[in-house]
Amino acid sequence: MALQRPKGTQDHLPDGSPKLRLDISARAFRYVTDTAAQVLERAGAAFIETPMFEEAELVKRGVGGSTDIVRKEMFMVYYFGDHGGYVLRPEGTAGLVRAYLENGLKQLPAPFKLWTHGPMFRAERQQRGRLRQFHQVDYEVLGSADPLVDAEAIWLMVQVVQALGLKGVEVKLGSIGDPEDRETYNAYLRGLFGAHVERLSDDSKDRLERNPMRILDSKSQEDQELIAELSVRPMLDFLGAEAEAHFAAVRGFLDAWNVAYTVDPSIVRGLDYYRRTAWELHHAHIGAKSALGGGGRYDGLAKELGGSDTPGIGWAFGVERILIAMEEEGLSLPAAPQPQLYVAALDAGHVPMAAQVALELRSDFWADFGYKAQKPGNAFREGERRGAAYVALIGSDEAAAGTVALKNMSTGEQQSVKVADLAAVLGASALSSRS
Ligand code: AMP
Repeated sequence: MALQRPKGTQDHLPDGSPKLRLDISARAFRYVTDTAAQVLERAGAAFIETPMFEEAELVKRGVGGSTDIVRKEMFMVYYFGDHGGYVLRPEGTAGLVRAYLENGLKQLPAPFKLWTHGPMFRAERQQRGRLRQFHQVDYEVLGSADPLVDAEAIWLMVQVVQALGLKGVEVKLGSIGDPEDRETYNAYLRGLFGAHVERLSDDSKDRLERNPMRILDSKSQEDQELIAELSVRPMLDFLGAEAEAHFAAVRGFLDAWNVAYTVDPSIVRGLDYYRRTAWELHHAHIGAKSALGGGGRYDGLAKELGGSDTPGIGWAFGVERILIAMEEEGLSLPAAPQPQLYVAALDAGHVPMAAQVALELRSDFWADFGYKAQKPGNAFREGERRGAAYVALIGSDEAAAGTVALKNMSTGEQQSVKVADLAAVLGASALSSRS
């Protein structure tokens, strides 16, 4: 059998592919990133790209050494039997913050808004919407702790999914307070779970010491049963005055802008560098456990990465999950631009002229040609299969006169047009089809 792609990866296929679905359509991926580009760049976000592999240490500090991602899901990068301590990036934030610090972007006026998109890698067990290579659109703002920045980030995330036509999305908003608030909360959790250590999963026994908040995130059923039984109070009850005021300000902006959200006290982010605002974007058809995306404020991250203290906030959504949600809602892509001209030679000797006519038009138009001589019927069928607006035929008479026999595929009308006038005809038809 021919070789196959690695587990947990997908090929993004062109239109017309026999096995095409929206979530593996190359054009759909581009539609999502183009839409994101439009929304985010209108808000002043600058596009940035960082490497697909980074130092393992960066990812460890950025994502957290105790997370499943770092402990179980990292792809190491090997070369010539050795590895230089690099891993494929599992998410975008750490690399973007590193790039911001490393390239002196801090000298630019703050807040500095960045966005990117690209593949991310996690060795997870494959399911629908859970891949080993998946794609994210990522927005990050560095250099400001203003709640207005948080609200704008959430607004932009909602704008992107709305621009894609999605309706069934829900923003779940929470706050995880400041580090001292989390210390108080962790002390509370230690007391609460400490009395039932024997019922915790092994992972959570470990978390009880290091980071009890992460128990709330546990996937283990025994942990979740205990959590439900103990009626654990949410982090939101433990916000200090400053974090409380910040949270109220974010909600105030969202209310004023009519962004729908629900306050979700169960949102937790276990890592020390997270501060205050945290949210998830959910969709009715994706399932409660898997979000379309998420975001949060990470004021402590730059310092954690060895840089100077720089507040930051960002979000990412998974493009595959967005496309699955679009498919579930019955949304389709906008029509692809119509191919304008297909040029066919009626005999082999005129194929080069057909090619040249097409090539010269390409600076302004979609134009392709047949590589072999074709009978008129076949040429028209080929033009129709491609959805071309016009088919041009070139035989001996046309070649001698410097013309083509041009058929308008929607009216069926055929006329002789000078090669030099083709651009004008195609241009006029593009204008009239737009009006
Ligand atoms: P995270 O960085 O874990 O907060 O993930 C942000 C978003 O990326 C999620 O909400 C998903 O939409 C997407 N995502 C994360 N992991 C995967 C994966 N293994 N496969 C597909 N999408 C993913």
